[in-house]
Amino acid sequence: MRTTQYLLATVKEDPADSELISQKLMVRAGLIRKLSSGIFSWLPLGFRVLTKVENIIRDELTKVGGMEIKMPNVQPAELWQESGRWELYGNELLKIYDRAERGFVFGPTHEEVITDIARSELRSYKQLPLTLYQIQTKFRDEIRPRYGVMRSREFIMKDAYSFHIDDASLEETYHAMYQAYCKIFTRMGLDFRPVEADSGAIGGDTSHEFQVIADVGEDTLVFSDKSDYAANVEKASAALPAALPAPSQALEKVATPDTKTIKSVCEHLNLPESKSIKALLVKGQDDAVVALFLRGDHQLNDIKAERHPLVFSPLSFVNEADIKASLDLPAGFIGPVGLAAKGVPVIVDRDAAALADFCCGANEVDQHFVGVNWQRDCETGEIADLRNVVAGDASPDGKGALQIKRGIEVGHIFQLGDKYSKALGANVLNEQGKGVALKMGCYGIGVSRVIAAAIEQHHDDRGIVWPKAMAPFQVAIVPMNYHKSQRVRELTDKLYQELQDAGIEVLLDDRRERPGVLFADMDLIGIPQRVVIGERGIDNGVLEHKLRTEKDNSEVSIDDIVQTVIQAS
Ligand code: ATP
Ligand code: MG
Repeated sequence: MRTTQYLLATVKEDPADSELISQKLMVRAGLIRKLSSGIFSWLPLGFRVLTKVENIIRDELTKVGGMEIKMPNVQPAELWQESGRWELYGNELLKIYDRAERGFVFGPTHEEVITDIARSELRSYKQLPLTLYQIQTKFRDEIRPRYGVMRSREFIMKDAYSFHIDDASLEETYHAMYQAYCKIFTRMGLDFRPVEADSGAIGGDTSHEFQVIADVGEDTLVFSDKSDYAANVEKASAALPAALPAPSQALEKVATPDTKTIKSVCEHLNLPESKSIKALLVKGQDDAVVALFLRGDHQLNDIKAERHPLVFSPLSFVNEADIKASLDLPAGFIGPVGLAAKGVPVIVDRDAAALADFCCGANEVDQHFVGVNWQRDCETGEIADLRNVVAGDASPDGKGALQIKRGIEVGHIFQLGDKYSKALGANVLNEQGKGVALKMGCYGIGVSRVIAAAIEQHHDDRGIVWPKAMAPFQVAIVPMNYHKSQRVRELTDKLYQELQDAGIEVLLDDRRERPGVLFADMDLIGIPQRVVIGERGIDNGVLEHKLRTEKDNSEVSIDDIVQTVIQAS
């Protein structure tokens, strides 16, 4: 392409409402334009990148037997009522109505539609396993659309679904998909990690997220420094704490006036927070109040808490007034001693349960206990993992210590089991001729998000530095005085043709602009290679070749340039 005939929509100024580098660069390089909150158009340069990403995904999914399909964006309400998600999906679901007031949704995901296809097309175990995928626009009415296409309302997703006669077959395909995802993100040149994840509202048991490592990521990832263990912080566990030491102190009540926080109590008593226990009161099942106890220096993990059978989901904290009214307990001074007698079920975090001689509230205003010991002074109730891990915790596989980093979730794979096939009655006949519910897997990639994530990892102060496989063009030809020098024009046109004939995607910058402007734009849009053609070089039989990743250019003889570009592509 010639820039004079291309919509090269670069801009100098950062867009006003942008927070992230990737968001700024995508607008400045002319990849996208915002139409409305969380809704974007892809301009020609951006669309080329999108197509590159889509084709890498297509290629790797085809290799593991995936078949591409296209399902409708607009899906009838009845199908969502059948799965129960018309009510349960929440406010992210965009509901729309036709002229006859019939309800529809603009698909945020396609489990319902694919399961409908499965129940009508699949009859027998002989047709299984089967993997179908599509690359398509989704709409989720995100409460806070932000970071450009990273968290938008309309976005492009690759969603794949697999169908199986049993769990063993599901696990096999899940494993193949996991490997295919690793290949996809490796080909894209990304620094990523697969991490164990909580499977959340989609359901099922086993799930992994593919996270691109970046400080601006919204997710917190936990890794072992000595093994492959990696998990999202929602899911990560530390190794079991050491056995409970024997008590060495007597129980003593101490006055702690105006010390409602762990920090103020521990300062007042001159104790480390790790020797104290704090209480969090939450709604339990059947309207009960449940007391959760954690070590003073640890943070509650909401997801782990709401997974506990005694705790109501979604997690809801009981406010101070309700604590006072229904339980007659002083907020800020609640502890486990005597609590079970008040009929409050207790769940103690594993690390809190491994403390001896600790400090806790005395269930009286301005009073705490010190020297408290489980069993001797109070009951432990249930023991569970309730906390977020912290950097330095021992890895649960016994190898190394845990580290924490930020990540951008670009892919998510789930073993769904029979959640949707049961809800929608998608059955097939097994080998014994008996009808059984299909087992399902589902596998997403944020196609638009992964482009923003790649830019977060690959940019410098001059602009985007595309990994080769994602670049909209492999090489930019920048001629000096193209419109004045016949020699420059002839060589430029010849090279432009030869490179295209060799299958290279070339952008020829033939605009009547100063060289500085041309160089700045080609750097901004991040083309991996640049070839500069000028009179002086022609006199010496050479051209300038430069990689976007490098500072200096090299002189290449005119005869060798096509080969040099091909080799670097
Ligand atoms: P998140 O936790 O980021 O909201 P999710 O769990 O809702 O993601 P999935 O339902 O698993 O996401 O969707 C599959 C993939 O689609 C995600 O891994 C992510 O890359 C992408 N994705 C999800 N929501 C958005 C969005 N609002 N904008 C852009 N991409 C998204
Ligand atoms: Mg989401």
